[in-house]
Amino acid sequence: DPRLQGISDAIRVVPHFPKQGIMFNDITTLLLRPGVFKDAVDMFVERYRGMGIAAVAGIEARGFIFGPAIALAIGAKFIPLRKPKKLPGEVISETYVLEYGTDCLEMHVGAIEPRERVLIVDDLVATGGTLCAAINLMERAGADVVECACLIGLPKFKVFRLSTHESDILSKVSN
Ligand code: 5GP
Repeated sequence: DPRLQGISDAIRVVPHFPKQGIMFNDITTLLLRPGVFKDAVDMFVERYRGMGIAAVAGIEARGFIFGPAIALAIGAKFIPLRKPKKLPGEVISETYVLEYGTDCLEMHVGAIEPRERVLIVDDLVATGGTLCAAINLMERAGADVVECACLIGLPKFKVFRLSTHESDILSKVSN
C-alpha cells in the first residue's frame, strides 16, 4: 500500500528516550500531518469495517489517539483500558510483567458484554506483553478478541501472532 511509506516517514525515532539505549518511536510527529494521520486511521478502518466489531479497546495512552477515530468510523463503542487507579467505577484488572517490575491495565465492569467482538488498539507492539494483558482482560470479561491493531511493530521482536484464539498482531508499519 503506497500510504505505508508516508506513515513510516512521519514517525520520528528519538534515540536515548526515555533512557539511554532506547530508540523511541514518536508518533506525535505523524499527528501533526492530518493527511498522514487520516491515512493511518483509514487503513485500519478499511480492514475492520463490516467485521461485526462491537467495541474498540484502546490502551493508555497512545491507544486513546487511534482507537476512538477507528471506533467512530466503524460504528463501534470505545473502551479505554487504563493504568491503575484512574477509573472511578468498579474495575476488572490484569497485572503483567515488565522488564523491571509489573504494570496493570484496568477496565470498567460492564463496559463489554459477553460474546461481544472487540478490536484492541495501541500505537506500538514490542514484546507483546501489553497486548497479551489486554487480551486476557477482555477474555476474562467474556469478550471475543478479533485482532490487535498497532501502527508500529518493532522488527527485532517478531511478535506477529500472539494468540489465545485468533488474535493477531497487525503490524502496519515497521521502522
Ligand atoms: P510491549 O508490551 O509490547 O513490550 O510494549 C508496548 C507498549 O510500550 C505500548 O503500550 C507502547 O505504547 C509502549 N512503547 C514501547 N516502546 C515504545 C516506543 O518506542 N514508542 C512508543 N510510542 N511507544 C512505545
